[in-house]
Amino acid sequence: MNNTLLIIEDNEQNFYMMRFLLEKKGFTVIGAENGREGIEMALHNKPLAILLDIQLPEMDGYAVAAELKQHDEMDDVPIIAVTSYAMVGDRERILAAGATGYIEKPIDPETFVSEIIEYLPRDWSDKEK
Ligand code: MN
Repeated sequence: MNNTLLIIEDNEQNFYMMRFLLEKKGFTVIGAENGREGIEMALHNKPLAILLDIQLPEMDGYAVAAELKQHDEMDDVPIIAVTSYAMVGDRERILAAGATGYIEKPIDPETFVSEIIEYLPRDWSDKEK
């Protein structure tokens, strides 16, 4: 079964918080701290979904999402933007770049995992059985 989530995030504290919450619920978490490495890991590991920080060094989340969308094998891998940008225009921009959904920082530990699950492919839990 594929229960692996890829987190592309350059902030260590945010990464550890997300990883902790997701692993507690049984997900396997892999991480990349920049966009280029994240794209390579996505193509190599074909994760269940990708959590994508927008503010990344060199290559930002918009560019990462746009590049991932050029790969057909990523079509069924949701990209969930995780960002402190809260403006409406930013939300539209990341969705236009190819993200499936959007979660705002700071992360709420009470709701974070259920928000992520909302964006997973509808049949993901069936694949576990
Ligand atoms: Mn960042």
